[in-house]
Amino acid sequence: MPEAPKTVAVASSSHNSNGSLTTIVEKNKRALQFIDDVTSSPDDIQTHVLREILSRNFDVEYLKLRHRLNGATDRRTFKKLVPVIAYEDIHPEITRIANGDTSPILCSSPISEFLTSSGTSAGERKLMPTIAEEMDRRSTLYSLLMPVMSQFVPDLEKGKGMYFLFIKSESKTPGGLPARPVLTSYYKSSHFKNRPFDPYTNYTSPNETILCPDSYQSMYSQLLCGLCQRTQVLRVGAVFASGFIRAIQFLQKHWPLLCRDIRAGSLDPSVITDPAVREAVLTKVLLRPDPELAGFVETECGKDSWQGIITRLWPNTKYVDVIVTGTMSQYIPTLDFYSNGLPLVCTMYASSECYFGVNLNPLCKPSEVAYTLIPTMAYFEFLPVHRNSNNGVSNSISMPKSLNEKEQQELVDLADVKLGHEYELVVTTYAGLYRYRVGDVLRVAGFKNKAPQFNFICRKNVVLSIDADKTDEVELQSAVKNAVDAHLAAFDGSVAEYTSYADTTTAVPGHYVLYWELSLKGTTAIPPSVYEDCCLTVEESLNSVYRQGRVSDKSIGPLEIKIVEQGTFDKLMDYAISLGASINQYKTPRCVKYEPIIELLNSKVVASYFSPKCPKWVPGHKQWSNNMKN
Ligand code: AMP
Repeated sequence: MPEAPKTVAVASSSHNSNGSLTTIVEKNKRALQFIDDVTSSPDDIQTHVLREILSRNFDVEYLKLRHRLNGATDRRTFKKLVPVIAYEDIHPEITRIANGDTSPILCSSPISEFLTSSGTSAGERKLMPTIAEEMDRRSTLYSLLMPVMSQFVPDLEKGKGMYFLFIKSESKTPGGLPARPVLTSYYKSSHFKNRPFDPYTNYTSPNETILCPDSYQSMYSQLLCGLCQRTQVLRVGAVFASGFIRAIQFLQKHWPLLCRDIRAGSLDPSVITDPAVREAVLTKVLLRPDPELAGFVETECGKDSWQGIITRLWPNTKYVDVIVTGTMSQYIPTLDFYSNGLPLVCTMYASSECYFGVNLNPLCKPSEVAYTLIPTMAYFEFLPVHRNSNNGVSNSISMPKSLNEKEQQELVDLADVKLGHEYELVVTTYAGLYRYRVGDVLRVAGFKNKAPQFNFICRKNVVLSIDADKTDEVELQSAVKNAVDAHLAAFDGSVAEYTSYADTTTAVPGHYVLYWELSLKGTTAIPPSVYEDCCLTVEESLNSVYRQGRVSDKSIGPLEIKIVEQGTFDKLMDYAISLGASINQYKTPRCVKYEPIIELLNSKVVASYFSPKCPKWVPGHKQWSNNMKN
C-alpha cells in the first residue's frame, strides 16, 4: 500500500531560499505521487484497508458477538454478516462507551474522544468515536491540499494564509472522554499546535488567537492580525463559506475599533482580555503604532459599498478557500461580491466520522467541484440513490432509515461506482464504525486514474441550514406542531399549510423563515405576542446545533414566521404544476429555495413575527453535567 508522504519540516530560517524551495518542490512531488499511486489501484487498497480494520478488530464485541464475524476479513463475509447501519443502531454501544465502559466494544484501540457531529439524533449532536491514530490520517489528508493547489497557483509559499479558524465549546462524557467538534480537537492537538514551520501552514493568525475560547476575542484578534499583515496575505478562507462571511461582517461592524488599535499599536484592554492572545499579537505579529495603515483601512471600510473589500484590503489575495458545495452554495453570490469574483476554492470533503477526500481541480467552478475519495482513509461503500427531479421546489432527499435485505445487497464498492450515478456514502472506519451511513448523497462526476470523483449533492433529509445546523423535515414538522399546540390551539387556530426557507440574503446572520397559512376558527383576535411565542417554541424544539448557532456562535438570526393570506398554498401548487410537477403526486414542499417561489410567497405575506429572544442551549448533551467547558 502506498505510504502517505511524511510531514517534513521545511524552510527553517537557516535554509537559503533555494534550499527551501527544493524541499517544497520535493514534498509536493511526493504528495502528488501518493495521490497518483492510491488512485491507480483503489480496489487493492480498499481490500487491504478492510482487511486491516477487521483483523485489528476481530475481537471487538460488535463484530464478534453481535454479528458473529468470527475473524473473517474478506469483503464477501463482511457484507453478508455485518449490516448497513445508521447512528441509532449503535446508540447503545456509544452510550456505554460514553458512560465509561472501556472494554473493546467497537474498536480494539482505546476510544480517545468523541467527535460531536453537526448531524443530530434525537435533537442532540451525534457522538462519533475516534482513536488517537486517526489524527495522523486527518493530517495526511491536510498534507495533500497545498501540493495540489500549488500546481494551479504558484508561489503560495511566498506569503501567508489568512484563515479564520475557531474552537468551539467542549464537554466531557460521564465516563470522562472529551466530546468536541473534530476541528476543535485538531486545533488543540500537537499536530496543529506544534506543527513544524511550513510555508503552507503559515497563517496570519497566531495559534493563541485560534485557540482563544472567547469567540469575540478570537475573531477580533484574527482580523487585527490579518489587517496588520495584509500585504503578505496570498489566500484567505475559513472552513465553511458561512464562517468567512461572518468574519467580513464582523469587520463591517468593528472596523473603527480595529483601526483605533492599529493606530495606537496596542490592544484595547477592555476588548482583548485573554493574556495569551495579547502576548501573541504583540510579540508574534509585532503590533506597532501604524497610523498610515489605520487611515487606509478606515478609508476603505468607510466607503459606501463593500464590493471587493477583500481585494481592496488584501490586494495580493489569489483565491478564497472555503467550502461552497452543498448547502453552502447559498453564499456564493455574497462571496463573489466581497471578493470581486476571486476563485472560490473547495479543497476537501470531510466529516467527524472520517476525512474522505480532496478536490484535485481546485480552480474549477463551484458547481463543478468533485472530490476524489482517498482510498486509504477508510473502507467505502455506496448505496444507490434513485430520485425524481424536484422542479426546484424542494431540496431535500429522503431515504429509508433502515435497509431491507435486497437494499443491503445493492451496495457497491469504490471501484465499481458508475459515472453519473448517485449514491449514499457508507463507511467502515479504523475507529469502530462498520458500514455506517454518513448521510451524504454523492454523484460520480469522473475519475482520477481508477478512483471515482464525486460531486457533493446534498445531505439526505436536510431541509434547512444556515451554518453548521442541519434541520430535517421531521424535526421541523414536530417543532411546528409544538408551537401550534402550545400557543395557537387556545385560540382555536391551527396551521393549514406551511413551508420554510433559509434566508441568508435579507439579514445578517441568516435565519429560518416559516410561511404559515392559518386556519382560524376562533373569534378572538390573536395578539402578536402569541406568534412571537410560536417562533420561540419552534426554536426551543429544534436540535442543539441550531440552538448553539443562535446562542453561542451567533451564526443564526432569530426565527421568523410569516403569515400568508388564504389560498397562498393553492397558488404554490398551481405554480409547481406549471413547472411540471405531477398533480397526483404533489405534496407541499416543506422547504423552498427557488427564487420565483419565494417571491410568490413573499407577495402574499400579511404579517411577520420574530423570535423575541434566544432559545435555551448549554454545551454537551442534555443528560450530562457539564464539568468541562473551554
Ligand atoms: P460534521 O460531522 O459536523 O463534521 O459534518 C460533516 C458533514 O458536513 C458531511 O457529512 C457533509 O454533509 C458536510 N460537508 C463536509 N465537507 C463538505 C464539502 N466539502 N462539501 C459539502 N458538504 C460538506
